[in-house]
Amino acid sequence: MPMPGYVEVVIKLPLDRTFQYKITGKESFPPELGKRVKVPFRNYQKTGYIVALEDAPQVESPREVIDVIDEQPVLSRELIALAGWIRDNYFCSMGEAIEAMLPGTIRRGKMTMRSRIKEEPRDVASSRPHTPNTEQASVLREIRKCLAKGAHEVFLLHGITGSGKTEIYLQAMEDVLSMGKSGVMLVPEISLTPQTVERFVSRFGDKVAVLHSRMLESARFEEWERIKKGEARVVVGPRSAIFSPIKDPGLFIVDEEHEPSYKQEDAPRYHARDVAIERGRLSGAPVILGSATPSLESYYMAMNGKCKLVELTQRIKEQELPRIKIVDMRMDFDTRVGKTVISKVMSDVLQKDVHDRKQALIFLNRRGFSTFVLCPGCGGSVKCRKCDSPMVYHAEKGELICHYCNTRIVPPTKCPSCGKDELSYKGTGTQKVEKELRRIIPEARIARMDSDTMAKRGAHDRLLGDFKEHKIDVIVGTQMIAKGLDFPKVTMVGVVSADANLNLPDFRSGERTFDLITQVAGRAGRGDMGGEVVVQTFTPEHYAIAFSAKHDYHGFYAREMESRRELMLPPVVHIAKIMVRARKEEKAEKAAGDISCMIRRKMPDVDMLGPAPAPMLKLRGYYRWNILLRGESREDLTRKLREVFAGTRKKTDVIVSVDIDPMSL
Ligand code: ADP
Ligand code: ZN
Repeated sequence: MPMPGYVEVVIKLPLDRTFQYKITGKESFPPELGKRVKVPFRNYQKTGYIVALEDAPQVESPREVIDVIDEQPVLSRELIALAGWIRDNYFCSMGEAIEAMLPGTIRRGKMTMRSRIKEEPRDVASSRPHTPNTEQASVLREIRKCLAKGAHEVFLLHGITGSGKTEIYLQAMEDVLSMGKSGVMLVPEISLTPQTVERFVSRFGDKVAVLHSRMLESARFEEWERIKKGEARVVVGPRSAIFSPIKDPGLFIVDEEHEPSYKQEDAPRYHARDVAIERGRLSGAPVILGSATPSLESYYMAMNGKCKLVELTQRIKEQELPRIKIVDMRMDFDTRVGKTVISKVMSDVLQKDVHDRKQALIFLNRRGFSTFVLCPGCGGSVKCRKCDSPMVYHAEKGELICHYCNTRIVPPTKCPSCGKDELSYKGTGTQKVEKELRRIIPEARIARMDSDTMAKRGAHDRLLGDFKEHKIDVIVGTQMIAKGLDFPKVTMVGVVSADANLNLPDFRSGERTFDLITQVAGRAGRGDMGGEVVVQTFTPEHYAIAFSAKHDYHGFYAREMESRRELMLPPVVHIAKIMVRARKEEKAEKAAGDISCMIRRKMPDVDMLGPAPAPMLKLRGYYRWNILLRGESREDLTRKLREVFAGTRKKTDVIVSVDIDPMSL
């Protein structure tokens, strides 16, 4: 193959363009697509990625490549194409998209690893596949048809909790391995789904690479190399694992596809579910999206024939779904002993459960002790200095903590606004629930699981280990206990407040509430002792709560789609959110106004909302204003915005960012 004379190089810059360099023939390795190069850029030396090879110069005399760093490409042709797609759909530069795909060691231009630490061989019992039941067999048949054809297709696997979805992933993956191919399974967060990961490791042993977000960089790089060489053929990891350099991609799985953590909040602001679908398309591989509560986006795709719906409607061993009892906290108020946040109903069920030597999970999506500190004088609450958010009292540390920016202060003795000195502590977090449960059932062994108690390495595994051995009767926890846990002795699940999410100013709050109740409820009754779920709420009539109590996803979907249609919200449309941030309030408002005028001028037909202050105006010391654009296609919105912003100068005191398909408005 004759050596190309020139290469197109992407350099990590927010700049959206490539640069051409000349090959001299003196480089350490021949230039190839996907290799890193050292190049001169202005007065610096930079690392870039070769994305095209060319025979002719495009400018008069392009500068010369300093060296080709890699013997083997770090990016495949497929991943380069995927980076291009991310660029076109999420308003970021090609450099930002490429860098999101690679481990830090590679990004910083390092050549090789110093030493390889030999890992202890994993000592895990291998688990044997179950014989699929009728429903599982029919789902597997569909997936296998697709695998045999070597075709791309998207499956939405809607299976109730405990219906055997994970077993389907495992068996489909096994087929992929036997075809000599590789696959990726995404999970929302490794530490939240230990049991799912464990099953993959025990089924596939050394062929699995498990990636986590908190992994040491050297370990991450080693796994990346193992995957690239084809030693690891099954990758399990969080959203960034979708970029794993697997050999011969044969299958992509997105478990709990409705989870918001699949969306990256910084540039590139991609959604891993959509990236998985595109990567499947590029590599001709099937994609399985699995959930007990599919996102409206995915179910809408299925309803429009854009993906194939496959369903599991029964729990394994025909266990019933647990009965969900809704407690109206307005009615229960009188019967409550003192001012406890635990209803009589919940405490009765829990007490009986503990006496019968069963286990329980008590869920509340708020950590801390009191969630706000109120001044009866002026009616205000103690707020974070940098955020528009009430500070949360943490009893163990005796501090007020902001859950957005982690600012900590000593609790004031007087109201910071009016000076009155009778502040009262209100609202309930997991610490308060734990304390109340200890008082109500002193004989129960209770543990708490939230990011405060689980900060130490290994704490999580230890607690779940103790729970499995029944050294603990009750776990009180945040979303950490909401999914993935499969303990047969858990017969009771309690939701302390189903309203916590409903009150957020977010169009997805109904969906989040439905998902959470369904997921948490799914932890109960997985053995053969039955299960009961107690949900406390002040708004039992809310449809998200009513439908979840009936285990009625379809009812919920229909009702929620009605309002999304009426209000023209996703999944009916795509949204681009333009966020303008500044330290000074007037600056943010003014810049947002200017940008909206520019958009009006350059895109006269666009459907624009705002500018308006963000639902939480102040965050981490920045004032924020938003402009929303609605459109039929992500790509179209991205392209138009690129035209709008082309040639505009960056201001130093205002930060503008674009989020396509944002998680919240
Ligand atoms: P899901 O992922 O839908 O919550 P799982 O795959 O975790 O469901 O299955 C629930 C439980 O049933 C697990 O303990 C699993 O090992 C078991 N299981 C799954 N499929 C079968 C089967 N065909 N026969 C017997 N047990 C099964
Ligand atoms: Zn704050």
